Amino acid sequence: MRLLLVEDDPMIGESVLDALRAEGYAVDWVRDGRAADSAWSSEQYDLVLLDLGLPTRDGLQVLRAARERRDRTPVLIVTARDAVDDRIRGLDAGADDYLLKPYDLSELQARVRALLRRAAGRAEPAIEHAGVCLNPATHEATLHGRALVLSQREWAVLEALLRRPGVILSRAQLEEKLYGWKDEISSNAVEVYVHSLRKKLGADFIRNIRGMGYVIARDEAGGDDGQAA
Ligand code: CA
Repeated sequence: MRLLLVEDDPMIGESVLDALRAEGYAVDWVRDGRAADSAWSSEQYDLVLLDLGLPTRDGLQVLRAARERRDRTPVLIVTARDAVDDRIRGLDAGADDYLLKPYDLSELQARVRALLRRAAGRAEPAIEHAGVCLNPATHEATLHGRALVLSQREWAVLEALLRRPGVILSRAQLEEKLYGWKDEISSNAVEVYVHSLRKKLGADFIRNIRGMGYVIARDEAGGDDGQAA
């Protein structure tokens, strides 16, 4: 999951960045409205955390511009403006949720999880498919009910594919889920994580579609386990 954090206060920004990275998200952080416009219109994000009081361009204007270009990315407004009118304006401008400063970081993390879940069309907190269960709230993973140990980046690759079974994600799309701008991308990183996931989940769990990318089958392949057909 790749998130855009728009926050001009350096201390708040640092703490939110740490809290989100601890959850395994790739996060890009920008500190003013124009930088937010340019990042948001050029990259594909899974969620935007948006402060309203910003240098160069107000957060509400940034949000309206995004919705005008039909960008449907979920938006969580995080702001110190506590007037009811501001909250209503934010939601009416296309925000999905609203959190007032000061807030508890664990509440911020929970709201992010809820928005990502809803954006994926799910109401239930865990992602379950083909015997694998990922719980983003507890960071617990299981395979057929047994604990599965995943690194943060293995988790990120697996989660991206599991959220959309049957949909092929290109290497570039998976790389976007793994890294923020400032992280180094090694050219074969996605292959490395897919390889280690296959060792844990079975060689056929993640399929490589030559020239296109990776996919997890939509249909549960349960019952065929271990058969060499
Ligand atoms: Ca601010």
